[in-house]
Amino acid sequence: MNALAELGLVPVINAAGTVTRLSGGIMAPEVAAAMAEASAACFDMLDVQAAASQEIAAATGAEAGIVTGGASAALLLGAAACLAGMDPMAMNALPAPGACRAFVMARSQRNMYDRALEVAGGCIVEVGIPDRFSGAGVRDASVGEIAAAIGPETAAVFWVAQPWSEPALAEVVRVAHAAGVPVLVDAAAQLPPLANLTAFIEAGADLVAFSGGKAIGGPQASGMLAGRRPLVASALLQMLDLDLPDAQFRLPVEFAGNEMLPFLPRHGIGRSCKAGKEEVVGLLVALRRFVAEGDAARGARMLARLRAVRDAMGDRPGVEILPGPTPLLLLRCADAQAARRAEAALRARRPAIHVNQSRLRDGVLVVHPAALAEADLVELGRGLAAVLG
Ligand SMILES: *Cc1c(COP(=O)(O)O)cnc(C)c1O
Repeated sequence: MNALAELGLVPVINAAGTVTRLSGGIMAPEVAAAMAEASAACFDMLDVQAAASQEIAAATGAEAGIVTGGASAALLLGAAACLAGMDPMAMNALPAPGACRAFVMARSQRNMYDRALEVAGGCIVEVGIPDRFSGAGVRDASVGEIAAAIGPETAAVFWVAQPWSEPALAEVVRVAHAAGVPVLVDAAAQLPPLANLTAFIEAGADLVAFSGGKAIGGPQASGMLAGRRPLVASALLQMLDLDLPDAQFRLPVEFAGNEMLPFLPRHGIGRSCKAGKEEVVGLLVALRRFVAEGDAARGARMLARLRAVRDAMGDRPGVEILPGPTPLLLLRCADAQAARRAEAALRARRPAIHVNQSRLRDGVLVVHPAALAEADLVELGRGLAAVLG
């Protein structure tokens, strides 16, 4: 059996990073084997997600967690949980909860992933003028502005995690909790460092979304939502198949028990967010490996990849390794136009080489190590040398 050949699928060399467009990363054989093992049997999905909750709680310090079809799915489900809580009628009403309920967020943090909140049925309320970005000022949104925007119709405060995000999460949590409102965090791409698995929960976030298919090395279509038990339970209920008699249903203890749920909701808004048993088991095994490897060993593994690429390129100026939680190889071209031409020429090769395009406007090609196959490093170095001349 050679499924890829039968389908006519030809792999590319992915030096862009674990981007969705290029199918994420490459799973370790142990993760693929775990997915195959899961695929050979059937389970009660509540048991599968209860196991997920234990693993995610241990890794993040959260009370509970679930595996979803991606971080975007985790955001949609997290938003649905903030909108409906454990009220089955409110769950059934999504995505039209009656009066539009708000997710308050700093205007500087707006991005196209936040539409997951609107898909669930929420409205986004932007706060602050981020004039530090225009150079016309030094400020971003303030906690005071966030506090002032919270009202009776506020479902949650939404915070997008980046090292430069303002205001700081702990301050946002303080004003949100003072108003009795939860904080939902998009931390999809904030790993490594490993410390970020726990940092946002530690800072008081009520729900945090992570991608499974990025640095963790899980299946491409996986993610996780970690946080407070009743909110995670609500998210789970809005994702799972609940087509069974009320009396038969028992929510596992990992999700707070049945007593809060007056009756069973219908299939929820999150049905399209579902993770299969293969994704759940694959992500959990990948998460264990990610935690066990640690930042130093992973960084060294990534650095060794970049050095192999650089060595295959031969001696040349304008090549530099940028250190960091994930080191990067930077290739300096004459200018932005030369960098764009080189990038296109690399994509036109067979096998196609995709470099990271984030610094093309500076005239720099970036080689991101996370999604590279070990077997492609020499071919990648030679391809880069050929195109850069
Ligand atoms: C990648 C990303 C997402 C989406 O994650 P998926 O796991 O692909 O659904 C959401 N938000 C941010 C900031 C991201 O970088």
